[in-house]
Amino acid sequence: MLIDNYGRPWLKLRIVVNSVCNYRCIFCHFEGQGKFLSRELSAEDIGFVTSVAKDLGVDDFKITGGEPLLRKDIVKVVDEISRIGPKDLSLTTNGYFLDIYAEDLLSHGLRRLNISLHSLDRRKYSFITGVDALNKVLENIDYVSKLGFRQIKLNVVALRGLNTNEIPMMIRFAAKYGFVLQLIELMPMGEGFPVFARYYDDLSDIINWLNKHGKLLGTRKDLHNRPLYEVDGVRVEIVKNYNNPTFCAGCTTMRLTSDGKLKTCLYKEPVVDLWPYIRTRDREGLMKAMIYANSLRKPNFVEGSSGDLSRIRIKVRIGNLVY
Ligand code: SAM
Repeated sequence: MLIDNYGRPWLKLRIVVNSVCNYRCIFCHFEGQGKFLSRELSAEDIGFVTSVAKDLGVDDFKITGGEPLLRKDIVKVVDEISRIGPKDLSLTTNGYFLDIYAEDLLSHGLRRLNISLHSLDRRKYSFITGVDALNKVLENIDYVSKLGFRQIKLNVVALRGLNTNEIPMMIRFAAKYGFVLQLIELMPMGEGFPVFARYYDDLSDIINWLNKHGKLLGTRKDLHNRPLYEVDGVRVEIVKNYNNPTFCAGCTTMRLTSDGKLKTCLYKEPVVDLWPYIRTRDREGLMKAMIYANSLRKPNFVEGSSGDLSRIRIKVRIGNLVY
C-alpha cells in the first residue's frame, strides 16, 4: 500500500470514463477535468490502469463521468475492472439510462450504485438538471432497487433555498427502499462557481436537524472522515469538503481523468499524465508514474498548497470533529 507524505494511504481510484452528459446540472464540477476532452480511454486502457493500481494496493474503484451510462461499452468497462478482483466497484449516475444497463452491470461485477437525485419535486428537478426526467429516474430507481445491488446511495447536492427543505422527504424516500442518503456540500468548481453565492449551503442547519432527529454513528475513516448519521433506519453520509482540513486529512483517493491523467486532488494541481505509459502498455513506467503522483498528494490545508488556511471557516462541531 502506498502512503503519501502526510501519512494518508492511497486506497481508492475514481475513474472518470467520459466527459459528456445528457444533463446540464446547474452546478456541475465536471470532476475537475473540464468538458468535452478529445481523448477517451478505452475499456482495455481502464482495465490496464486499474490492474496496475491494484498491484499498488488500490482496491476500491468508482466509475463516474460525464454520464458514464452514455458510454456504449460501459458494461465492458465494468467487466475489465471487475476481472482484476477489486474489493469494491461502484458507479455514479444520474439514473436516466439505468433501465438499459443495470442488469448487465450487476452481472458483470458492479457492486454498488450512487444515483444522483437532487430533488423529488419535478419542477425543481428539471431546473437543477436541465432535463424533465424525474418520473423516468424514479421508475428506474424502483426497478434497480429490486435487482440485488449490494448498496444503493442517493447523492443529493444541498442547494440553499432549492432542495434543503426536502431532506426529511428524502430520508422517507430512502427508508422506503433501504438506500443510503449522501448529502453533498456544493463545491465552487466548474458550473458550481457562478451559482455558489446563490445556492451554497454549509449544511449546518441540516447537521443540526440530524443531531436532533437521528444519531451520529461515527465517521468513515476510509473516506474523508465523513460523518455518518442514522435517522429512521436510514444511513445518512455527510460530504462536507469545502476548505475542510478534516476531510482532506482523511483523503485516500486519486482521480483518473477520461483522457488518462492522474489527478492528485479534485480541486487543484498537480496532475500526472499517464497516457504515454497507458498507450504503450508500459506497466513499470505506469507504476512509477503512479508512485510519483502519490508522492505529490498534498492536503488542501497544508501551507504552500493552493488551499489556504486563512480561508477555512470553522462552522460545526460533530463529536470531536470540527467542520
Ligand atoms: N453524471 C453522473 C451524475 O450526475 O451522478 C456522474 C457525474 S457527477 C459529476 C458525480 C457527482 O458529483 C454527482 O453526484 C454530482 O451531483 C456531484 N457534483 C457535481 N458537481 C458538484 C459540485 N459543484 N459540488 C458538489 N457535488 C457535485
